[in-house]
Amino acid sequence: MYRIELNYVKNIHEFEELIKVFLRPSDYVLINNGTIIDNLKTLANLDITDNDKSYINITVPDDLALNFNKPEGRNVIKQFIFDSLSLHTGLKPDWGIHTGVRPVKLASELSVREGSEEKAKQILLEYYRMSQEKVDLIMHINNIQKCILGRSNTNAVGLYIGIPFCPTRCVYCSFTSNQASENQINSYLEALHYEISFVGKRMQSRGLYPESVYIGGGTPTTLSKEQLDKLLMHVKENIDLSKTKEITVEAGRPDTITREKLEIIKKHEISRISINPQSMKAKTLELIGRSHCPEDIIEAFKVAREVGIKIINADIIAGLPEEDVDDFKNTLRSVLELKPENITVHTLALKRASRLKLIDSDYNYKQSQIVREMLEQSRMMLSESGFEPYYLYRQKQMTGNFENIGYAKPHAENIYNIRIMEEMQTIIALGAGGITKVYYQEENRLERVPNVSNYEIYVERIDEMLERKEKGLFNT
Ligand code: SF4
Repeated sequence: MYRIELNYVKNIHEFEELIKVFLRPSDYVLINNGTIIDNLKTLANLDITDNDKSYINITVPDDLALNFNKPEGRNVIKQFIFDSLSLHTGLKPDWGIHTGVRPVKLASELSVREGSEEKAKQILLEYYRMSQEKVDLIMHINNIQKCILGRSNTNAVGLYIGIPFCPTRCVYCSFTSNQASENQINSYLEALHYEISFVGKRMQSRGLYPESVYIGGGTPTTLSKEQLDKLLMHVKENIDLSKTKEITVEAGRPDTITREKLEIIKKHEISRISINPQSMKAKTLELIGRSHCPEDIIEAFKVAREVGIKIINADIIAGLPEEDVDDFKNTLRSVLELKPENITVHTLALKRASRLKLIDSDYNYKQSQIVREMLEQSRMMLSESGFEPYYLYRQKQMTGNFENIGYAKPHAENIYNIRIMEEMQTIIALGAGGITKVYYQEENRLERVPNVSNYEIYVERIDEMLERKEKGLFNT
């Protein structure tokens, strides 16, 4: 048991995130100014004094803690925690003290600031305590992104359109996903069309154009073919797509895909879709609450190719319940046989809102060694099949503190995914739960303009959503 004392620091969650990379919540007590923090209040009755031999005491020195409100000061505290816990546990987590979502962005900023990739690498290794393998990986991805895209034109934006509906809810889901009636979906679409028209007009008057469009969710193909056709038509009629390089529709779950819907997608000149198997093991699909089987995935791919969809992404997840490394390798092999142009390998991230987390709160920790092996296998197998990693992000509460990696065949990389991770382009997000991020180039910073996340409240307050956009995005 560890007793970690961190005094004088106000927001300790960032530090606790790092502690959780090393220790299970039941393995430590975190103390801030004499108070035990968060879910371990039950331990309050135990003797946690310095003299209690059942604890390993780690106390962050006051002179470090007093510097907590400067970014460098926070990093020094993290280095102290990292080094102390490494010493005691023998672990050296790959991402070092970096707890953020975008390590590739960090690599890019350091390369620019230091004027040399070598110096940036050194900082990532020594100051951030990252492993050589992760440093090489993010530098590689950074170079690929630079070659593919370069800097965004100032008038180019990313456009996101959210359809927050799915036929059923997956057991690991923590996204905005609702099961709704046709009438409810129709009311939502009416409000969404209204927002699309408004944004289209205002973009045009401001000289903005979408470099990429991403229609995501939820699962957009939950819409009926008529609803989908009307939505895609409405986008075409109201948004100037003449300079748009790619449009993606997340077809996501095979149980929502039909030939007619794919034909509609093709008719509207959509260049890319996602068909997300997650696993090709029937038992796993049942366990995670997806009402489709592996054969449905094979069929969806077959029909998409027959219809003429050019680029297909397939998402798979490492660390799903009751799966071992062989199951994961079988999934990868089967997915490779379908010949997608992109494969995104996710690591299961169990957040508070997911049902699986409610079932087993220790899940992330138990799975970490298996997931490490799965990810290694995916790197090898995908590289042998001609895929390159081209974008990467981390999520909080990710199994074993790993990452999600997007792999692509050459020239099939998804621009929207790269831009959203780079955070150097305005992303305009429409629909319930959409968070617009306005990029201010001179200050290199983003300002958020959120829509409400509940789809019924979005419909009720659509005028307010437009006002928010006018004020926070167009009128700046
Ligand atoms: S398909 Fe995605 S958004 Fe829909 S329920 Fe499953 S995890 Fe959630």
